[in-house]
Amino acid sequence: MSLIERLGTFGDAKVWYDNIPLESEYTVGIAGERFLRAIKDRGVILGTVCPACDLTYVPPSMYCERCFTQLDEWVELPAKGTVYTFTIVTRSLDGQALDEPEILAFVKLPGAHGGLVHRLTTAKPEDVEIGMEVEVVFKPQKEREGSILDIKGFKPT
Ligand SMILES: [Zn+2]
Repeated sequence: MSLIERLGTFGDAKVWYDNIPLESEYTVGIAGERFLRAIKDRGVILGTVCPACDLTYVPPSMYCERCFTQLDEWVELPAKGTVYTFTIVTRSLDGQALDEPEILAFVKLPGAHGGLVHRLTTAKPEDVEIGMEVEVVFKPQKEREGSILDIKGFKPT
């Protein structure tokens, strides 16, 4: 059987099950670096602006996804927003039941195209609703590491 021969049934494929040790490093790119540094060093949310499309990208992007213009204009956005959608998580990534459910939300920032997915803190699942006003809760500056987790989450205002 050659590599380009089409298999007719799944059972004809040769498979084996094992583990492959892999390591990887994720780079956030130029825009992501600046975005995370602004959170870490100054506790602010940055976006990039496409003047041609009148869009502000959060998280920031180096290029406009609509017109492909390189984006050089950076703006600070208010560290608040509205819940666009949310979900209640009751299990960890490995399937274990959580002691307390977590609320994950997609929060749109005012004037921004896009938003941030993060935890909702200090809200009970039954109290969360779409359109709810929330604000960013940053970690204390000395605890920040240059990660999106320098934001603890969003809390209702
Ligand atoms: Zn554009």
